[in-house]
Amino acid sequence: MYELKSTAILKNLMRDYFLSLETGRKKIAWCTSVGPAELLRSFGFDVYFPENHGALLGATRTATDLISSAVKCGYSNHICSYTTSDIGSFISGKSPLKNQYGMEGIPKPDLIVYNTNQCREVQDWFSFFAKQFNCPIVGIHPPRYVDEVSREEIALVVDQHKKIIPICEKASGNKFDIDRFRETLKLSKEATLLWQEVLKTSKESPAPLSFFDGVIHMGPIVVMRGTQQAKDYYAVLLKELNENVQNKRGVVKNEQCRIFWEGMPIWGKIRMLSDLFVENNTAVVASTYCSSWVFDEFDEKNPFESSALAYTKIFINRSEKAKMEMLKSWLNQYHCDGIVFHDSKTCFNNSNAKFGMPQRLKEETGIPYLIIEGDLCDLRFFSEGQSITKIETFIEQIESSRVKI
Ligand code: SF4
Repeated sequence: MYELKSTAILKNLMRDYFLSLETGRKKIAWCTSVGPAELLRSFGFDVYFPENHGALLGATRTATDLISSAVKCGYSNHICSYTTSDIGSFISGKSPLKNQYGMEGIPKPDLIVYNTNQCREVQDWFSFFAKQFNCPIVGIHPPRYVDEVSREEIALVVDQHKKIIPICEKASGNKFDIDRFRETLKLSKEATLLWQEVLKTSKESPAPLSFFDGVIHMGPIVVMRGTQQAKDYYAVLLKELNENVQNKRGVVKNEQCRIFWEGMPIWGKIRMLSDLFVENNTAVVASTYCSSWVFDEFDEKNPFESSALAYTKIFINRSEKAKMEMLKSWLNQYHCDGIVFHDSKTCFNNSNAKFGMPQRLKEETGIPYLIIEGDLCDLRFFSEGQSITKIETFIEQIESSRVKI
């Protein structure tokens, strides 16, 4: 069985990260997963990411039961299941952080910061907790669904970043220091570029990293951006993956088919799906999700402008035209034979199969697609049997059409 040695280091790193949030040594800022983590760290905050907690709730399959507690408080079953499971977890006092790391629960925030570059749901979600903890909350609201990002749009977002500085100063007790911001951004850039190299190793065949490995190994680039530890981890992981490429070791021994995954992971079914694709000699080699934490625009010489640009031009915040170009480029670079769209029931923001994009992409590239219905956390929206049949049929069709050629 294919396993990465780095996983053991990753587990320790993530445990240390979570435990550090409970030491009380530093003030805690909560942040959205593609929010201004570097700016917050430059004030000396430890940064906690509720979406990561949502993913843990999904991966441990505790989310589905917890959602009902949020529903009782008026949150719909059909809105973001990170939001509902996280709120449900808080109300019921249950968290995987307790069982896995012996923590008391989620860390109490001194400041809550969100960026609606991914969705407006984060504002409602984080506002619930701001009220519960009587904590200051501030948001960045960039233009949505941008084609190319204009100078005016960057200026607007820079201004919003600068406006949160006094709030960060008050909550952290530290004055803003541009040099610390530059240093943090530089570390974050170095880690994100290593993460990009990690993902690129799967351009090779057999691919040494699948989407299902990627969603686990992306932990540090989500929660530890701007730290030396994140950078060091990706250097180690990259070395191992490059060695595997050299030795022709891959996720799938007899790699027959290469697939791109579009949309959210189905956290509670990562292992099942990973095994299913491997059993069908298929590698899921790339994804929009894992690529969303590549911020190659970061530039410590222009920390505000480059942060504003990097966080505004993420895939989820782009026009269909821009998304299509990005997808075409990835399908080509990673030599994909097909693309799976995960139509996630509670996250329309990160589901691109609802308005005909798969069909238009096929018309332009000839690459076949499959739409899987499911959800990031709420497994009531996922039919395992039906999905297995659909995926196996899809792979068979790709292989049989290749034989005809
Ligand atoms: S992007 Fe989707 S999954 Fe993520 S917080 Fe927003 S609605 Fe939830």
